[in-house]
Amino acid sequence: MSDKVDMDKIVSLCKRRGLVFPSSEIYGGLASCWDYGPMGVELKRNVKDAWWKSIVHERDDVVGLDTSIMMHPGVWTASGHIDSFTDPLMDCKSCHLRWRADDVEGQRCPKCDGELTEPRMFNLMFKTFMGPVEEEASTIYLRPETAQGIFVNFDSVITTSRKKLPLGIAQIGKSFRNEITTGNFIFRTREFEHMELEYFVKPGTDEEWLDYWVKERFDWYVKLGIRKENLRLRQHGKDELAHYARDCYDIEYLFPMGWSELEGIANRGDFDLTQHAKHSGKDLNYYDSEADEKYVPYVIEPSAGVDRSVLAFLIDAYDEEEVEGEKRTVLHLHPSLAPINVAVLPLSRNQKLTPLAKEVYKQLCPSFVTDYDDSQSIGRRYRRQDEIGTPFCVTIDFESLEDKQVTIRERDSQGQIRVPVGELKKVIEAKFKGEAFDASPLWAARQR
Ligand code: ATP
Repeated sequence: MSDKVDMDKIVSLCKRRGLVFPSSEIYGGLASCWDYGPMGVELKRNVKDAWWKSIVHERDDVVGLDTSIMMHPGVWTASGHIDSFTDPLMDCKSCHLRWRADDVEGQRCPKCDGELTEPRMFNLMFKTFMGPVEEEASTIYLRPETAQGIFVNFDSVITTSRKKLPLGIAQIGKSFRNEITTGNFIFRTREFEHMELEYFVKPGTDEEWLDYWVKERFDWYVKLGIRKENLRLRQHGKDELAHYARDCYDIEYLFPMGWSELEGIANRGDFDLTQHAKHSGKDLNYYDSEADEKYVPYVIEPSAGVDRSVLAFLIDAYDEEEVEGEKRTVLHLHPSLAPINVAVLPLSRNQKLTPLAKEVYKQLCPSFVTDYDDSQSIGRRYRRQDEIGTPFCVTIDFESLEDKQVTIRERDSQGQIRVPVGELKKVIEAKFKGEAFDASPLWAARQR
């Protein structure tokens, strides 16, 4: 993490540039709920797409799934969430604030020093009622994780996908947790998105696969631009393991508030399938035709938060530099994550420039997420694009009308190259594929 970044700067940049807004802001906001603005929704989609690509599309041993948020309440009895998905809570007898017992030291309220009650267990699942009658029998829960949707569909997926173990089933979707202590912006909220993979393996091979997935997931963040020194692995102590876990590693990121969990990778053993088999009465054994034996698979689960990943990518990308005596704020986001790929910026709103600028925009639009901006000075527009991490800006000036060439400016180096309009798409494609910015553009190489 750069020493120039803190959470306030990130929150303020997100608001200023349309990445993330406080939810229901015109009503005064709703605690710990956030809305993704026009730039934020692109960034978030890119994070999810990058995960899906690496976990599902680039592998032949993982398939995707999209299950409903509301599930049969029996699921949560079987999974242990009704009994065990709880936090110990203490109430302040004076100011009535509630605290997570593991967040306070001793028996005094951190806010007013009042006396705290003994800890009581508080279930983190949101309850609601299905149908018109609000009675116990119609109580259902909003899912606190997407994983259970995968476990209850395990048999259907195995029988329809014609795949053999090891097999992963991946899902991205909303989860809900009535967290006691939220905060740190989108780090911990009550509604968030999970990216979860349940990777089913033969018992006995689970430890190997756990190591494999810990490495894969760590490398994914590094590949997408997070600096290695801001990431670390932490193995859970035996006393810390969740009720379902045989082993677990957290990938931690150095957030402004200190090292905190970014993703958990757990060996869930056969806990979930065994529980669902017991509670549903359905046989969830897997028939291994090669070994000619039946067994309940073990599960390795990399479970990441979309919002928390977005936050880590933003923090790691954030930088402030001095350029010609002025402060430049820039997000060095990986090009595949940047909300806008290319910005088309005519030097001014002069009518002579508009037709060519629009032509350039139309040329790029089908291939790249392209922004067209002709308001304010070019310097301010570059600043805006730098702040949302746009890797390339294309500028159309009066010379362009003569020589049909435009300027590409690169975000990080602020270097510029001049490229014929007809070759623009190819050149930008090459730059996105990793060709060095100052290398001869393709058209120049071909002309020689
Ligand atoms: P924490 O201890 O930080 O609350 P957890 O250990 O309960 O997290 P898991 O159940 O392992 O979290 O969920 C996996 C991932 O989902 C976390 O690493 C995090 O990225 C994300 N996540 C979990 N709870 C939240 C939340 N309330 N808000 C945002 N993201 C969350």
